[in-house]
Amino acid sequence: MSGAKLLKETGPREVFCGLTSIVWLHRRMPDAFFLIVGSRTCAHLIQSAAGVMIFAEPRFGTAILEEKDLAGLADAHEELENVVKNLLRRRPEIRTLFLVGSCPSEVIKLDLATVADRLNHHLQGEVRVLNYSGSGIETTFTQGEDGALKALVPLMPNCDEDQLLLVGTLANSVEDRLKTLFHRLGIPKVTSLPPRESTKLPAVGPRTRVLLTQPYLGETARVLKDRGAKVLTAPFPLGVEGSRLWMEAATKDFGIREETVNATLGPLILRARKALQPHIEQLQGKKLFLLPESQLEIPLARFLQRECGMKLIEVGIPYLNKELMQSELELLPDNTPLMEGQHVERQLDRVREQNPDLVVCGMGLANPLEAEGISTKWSIELVFSPIHGIDQASDLAELFSRPLHRHDLLTNNQLAQI
Ligand code: SF4
Repeated sequence: MSGAKLLKETGPREVFCGLTSIVWLHRRMPDAFFLIVGSRTCAHLIQSAAGVMIFAEPRFGTAILEEKDLAGLADAHEELENVVKNLLRRRPEIRTLFLVGSCPSEVIKLDLATVADRLNHHLQGEVRVLNYSGSGIETTFTQGEDGALKALVPLMPNCDEDQLLLVGTLANSVEDRLKTLFHRLGIPKVTSLPPRESTKLPAVGPRTRVLLTQPYLGETARVLKDRGAKVLTAPFPLGVEGSRLWMEAATKDFGIREETVNATLGPLILRARKALQPHIEQLQGKKLFLLPESQLEIPLARFLQRECGMKLIEVGIPYLNKELMQSELELLPDNTPLMEGQHVERQLDRVREQNPDLVVCGMGLANPLEAEGISTKWSIELVFSPIHGIDQASDLAELFSRPLHRHDLLTNNQLAQI
């Protein structure tokens, strides 16, 4: 491991909860429905996060539970089952239903796994009902995807065939491109989880090699290992270097010759490095502070420091999974302050003291920091943008160079008006 300085802090946090991941999961699997079992706050969060039109038939909803004492719990289970049965009568196209737990105390008392079992028994395979938690007490916003994918793993069929399984939601165009490249490299069977249709789950078995596309899928990786799959460890596919090392982890395991890899990826790497140049000019030497939110912070810090020349002031991360992050940590410069957890007040004090050029943070912190003259980038934007792979490296860099460019323009305008 590199000499990154591992630090920890706890205190008030300012992050989205795991319900947020429903926003990209429901787009990925249009035949699935996400029913949040929660409060009005949860309903407000998901509606504003997803920006749903009032006339649209969304593929998520909230069953709002009012205060219940323990004696009323049996009724609450029954009420929830009735809500689901009504929903399925109205929406016969739903093939997989996720019951998503949240943090209000009356929801925590519910046993969603038992409700899901009972509904599965009643529905006899017509619709599959699964459950996981998106509660803000247990999860940060990207961990909601980990919970949903982990719930799908037991339903995956067995297989005994060599294959590469890409795990984590990607933009469809990016996923297609990565699959094409793996085929060209000589890996014929490449599948993905989550699939584009919730009922077409990929198979898994002892000859399955898993590449995680996202760094927040530790629990899903663990249960895939339990199913016999081999989880390959590598840096994540952000930037030219990370994407190349990520793809090479698979080609090495499949015994593909280095010459083939160089001949296939070499021209793409050259083109991507050229496209990065204008962004490097903007980012080089600028100070970067990452606040913890998305779990993408370490791979981003690695890319922005090694390929774009930024200076890392502090890299915040909601939690550190050393096993999955090992190859990333090895690429960080010695003594990079790596802060696990959050005490938002203290972290903001350090931001002000260090006066960085750019802060990567949650939406709630971005506006106040911008008002203080500090440029920001919302971390949530990174999970909605097609940023994975060699071809996307310059688009990824642009997400960070754009706010700095805007800041320069505003500063020059203000100076011109003096
Ligand atoms: S799950 Fe918890 S943190 Fe998330 S919206 Fe509901 S109440 Fe808020």
